[in-house]
Amino acid sequence: MDAKCGHHPDRVADGGTCARCGTYLCAECRVEGSDPALCSSCLTLLDRGKDVRHIRILAILMMIHGGLLAAMGAYYVLFGGFVLDALADIPVAPGDESSEFLPEILVSAFALIGLTQVGPGVVQALGGWRLFQYRGLALGWIGALGGLLGVLGCYCAPTGIALAMYATYVLSRDDVRARIAVGVPPSRAKKPAAPSLDATESTDAP
Ligand SMILES: [Zn+2]
Ligand SMILES: [Zn+2]
Repeated sequence: MDAKCGHHPDRVADGGTCARCGTYLCAECRVEGSDPALCSSCLTLLDRGKDVRHIRILAILMMIHGGLLAAMGAYYVLFGGFVLDALADIPVAPGDESSEFLPEILVSAFALIGLTQVGPGVVQALGGWRLFQYRGLALGWIGALGGLLGVLGCYCAPTGIALAMYATYVLSRDDVRARIAVGVPPSRAKKPAAPSLDATESTDAP
């Protein structure tokens, strides 16, 4: 005998079993894309987690901060190029070896500072983008903590540290971790097709 859906007694439970409440689910009642299977009621409960709203706040901050970090890094690299250009116009005193090597050293330094920010900046922005879709817990950690490399470029040091601390708070919350583990963005969370049964669960908890 096949198990029936907990919300639709006439349907076979081909959507699996909800990993949180154990309800048998038909394909329609299983939250689309959830793995392991999850029912909509449990997703609603997870969405109501105390700290879940911080996911998107953190995601937006990471996208902005990561973007700025990458832009600053790119500017440093470009600036190194400008310096090289400007120095090329200054005549070098013959036999003065230090001034001959100066452009290379300067440009390398700017490029190095720049690249230590472009990479982490891009990763941080990507991590923010994934988090905005309630996904990518690992990339979120890497992006937030990787932003600390911006300390080397001094411009982003205070904001990078503040962001890493905020991310550490948000990403270590149990309700946040549970919500991201579902791997489904909020907009794709489908409501169940059985309002009569769902009504009891959607009334507000105290
Ligand atoms: Zn459930
Ligand atoms: Zn169903």
